[in-house]
Amino acid sequence: MVKFSTKIHRKRDLIKVILGFIEHYFFKKKINCKELIVLNYHGVPLKFLENFEKQIEYLSKNYSFINPLDLSNIFVNSLQSKKPKLLITFDDCPKNIIKALDFLEKRNIKSLLFIIPNYIDSNEPEVFYKKNIRPNINYNIENKKEDFEPVSWEYLKKLILKKNIIGSHSLSHIMNVNSKKNEINNEVILSKKIIENKLGVKLNHFCSINNSLKSLNKYSVKRIKENYEFHHTTIHGKNIEKNKLSIKRINVEAYWNKYHFIFSLGSIENYRWRKKRNIIDLLMK
Ligand SMILES: [Zn+2]
Repeated sequence: MVKFSTKIHRKRDLIKVILGFIEHYFFKKKINCKELIVLNYHGVPLKFLENFEKQIEYLSKNYSFINPLDLSNIFVNSLQSKKPKLLITFDDCPKNIIKALDFLEKRNIKSLLFIIPNYIDSNEPEVFYKKNIRPNINYNIENKKEDFEPVSWEYLKKLILKKNIIGSHSLSHIMNVNSKKNEINNEVILSKKIIENKLGVKLNHFCSINNSLKSLNKYSVKRIKENYEFHHTTIHGKNIEKNKLSIKRINVEAYWNKYHFIFSLGSIENYRWRKKRNIIDLLMK
């Protein structure tokens, strides 16, 4: 077992840590090589970089990393692998992910990054981050400039050259069930056009914001389907069915300790989300 932090950074995480401990020592692991796990990280504050590296080490022992470019193949054929397949995604993309991506690059692990054009182009990115992206900041976890400011377009171009993939995480991270048609057109379609122009790539991936069930409505679903091949949700789960428009993702954070991390990948958390998975599948049908 890879040793990584056992420190708990938020009191409310305690129950998840206990459940992760139970899961690790008392539940038999079921291995299903047909599964595709899509992990969803956000920032990687520098003081948790080492813990992030340990998490990746743990994952590489138990899963086989896939390149985001292979996603289309997986949804058509499913690639052969001896372990369950795993893809890493980053939402929001503050600057603090740069060192984490350097580490992944050294291990030849490629990621899918969901960016917010109006955040990257903002004159006051820290204000934007605290207002639109993360209104409830835990300053024990995020407190440095690079935790609040975005990566640049130039940096993203370099990542693309190294075979990482970029997707849209909406124009300004403000979609909700009551969003008007013109707002949705901006968030879903204009964001795609801006990213394609800035980076010179074709965009196939959209990732809905916050809780997908609270940020989407019938019109946004329609526009996503018309403009993207893949839609990544914030609904927890493993992908067994081949539904490109309702990709389930497992949220993990760089500061989580060993058992919290194991809990998030385990069967207790998976069971807790079963109803929401059905609702999002119906919505995206
Ligand atoms: Zn987000």
